[in-house]
Amino acid sequence: MNLKALYCPNCGGTVKYDIDSGKKSFFCIHCGSQILIDDDIIRTEHKEVIVDEAKIQEQLAAVEKAKIDSSNRKAALKSALIMMIITAVMALLLMLIPIIYVIVSH
Ligand SMILES: [Zn+2]
Repeated sequence: MNLKALYCPNCGGTVKYDIDSGKKSFFCIHCGSQILIDDDIIRTEHKEVIVDEAKIQEQLAAVEKAKIDSSNRKAALKSALIMMIITAVMALLLMLIPIIYVIVSH
């Protein structure tokens, strides 16, 4: 067994290939696409690494976008909470006005 880790050019997942098996192709365990093995495996692998990096950048951008979305949601939640507190305080004041009026008028 002489295992070599490769990146799937389709999904970017890590797949192990047994060089000693002599197979010319195998299937990605992640997405099922066929990966062809040739003698330029090092060069091919290098290309696949670049593809993988592009995929990672894409995923990082998606993560960054998700972070912004969640911080937007947090800000919306915060302002909703502030509005609720203001409403509660105003309701309390409205309830207190007649009580204060009764106390003052006596
Ligand atoms: Zn794949």
